[in-house]
Amino acid sequence: MFDSHCHLQDRRIVDSVDDIISKARRAGVDGFLCCGTTENDWADVAKIGAIHSGAICAFGIHPWYVDEVSDGWDDVLKKYIADDNRAAIGEIGLDNTVKPRNDNRQIDIFVRQLEIADELKRPVSIHCRRAWESILKILKARGGLRYGGAIHSYSGPAELVDELQKLGCHISFSGSIINDKNKRAAESLKKVSPNRLLVETDSPDILPPNIPGPTNEPANLQLIINKIAEITEKAPEEITSLTRENGMRLFINPARQ
Ligand SMILES: [Zn+2]
Repeated sequence: MFDSHCHLQDRRIVDSVDDIISKARRAGVDGFLCCGTTENDWADVAKIGAIHSGAICAFGIHPWYVDEVSDGWDDVLKKYIADDNRAAIGEIGLDNTVKPRNDNRQIDIFVRQLEIADELKRPVSIHCRRAWESILKILKARGGLRYGGAIHSYSGPAELVDELQKLGCHISFSGSIINDKNKRAAESLKKVSPNRLLVETDSPDILPPNIPGPTNEPANLQLIINKIAEITEKAPEEITSLTRENGMRLFINPARQ
């Protein structure tokens, strides 16, 4: 299984990352996209990627932390990406639930990271909350994602799935789809092309229901796959191989090796 979005460097779990990855492997999860969120965690992401071969690094500024960047943050980001030919860019994006709103700042930092992705030919992992109109506008103006990417933990309307796919996006679902009240995610899932579907835990966040916490981990990915299989009326094994192939094709592009 391929976990297309997690944060193994998160302070809450980083000290037990070796155990978490061993447990994940025993559960059948052998690939992870480990996403940075601020300049402060990029070194830990790089370290995890260097030690664990299944962990693909992503470096980026998350929309919640755009006000904390240093001068020259984009040069530092480029260096991290250039030093690792497998690295993606993420977690980046727009979040209109942030208070106070800092939309322009978020857009500037997001667009700069999309430019770097094109320049260094890398895929991206995108966070979007209640900012669908802006995301679409930005992606359209750029002619889509040249090297692809994923909308992580998809929470947008089902009607946008096709448009996002045409702009080069894969659509990734997290444990929030396990909640039966989340009809919107189930409807969106049915619109996703099989070759654009991804799964993720967003560990250590989004703990699935009835799992002892307090933190989520990649070993729980099977639960999300099972739910997706139930909604799409496919076998879990089919969802496993499909999402693994999609994740590997997007994030472990042989052309970059
Ligand atoms: Zn995340």
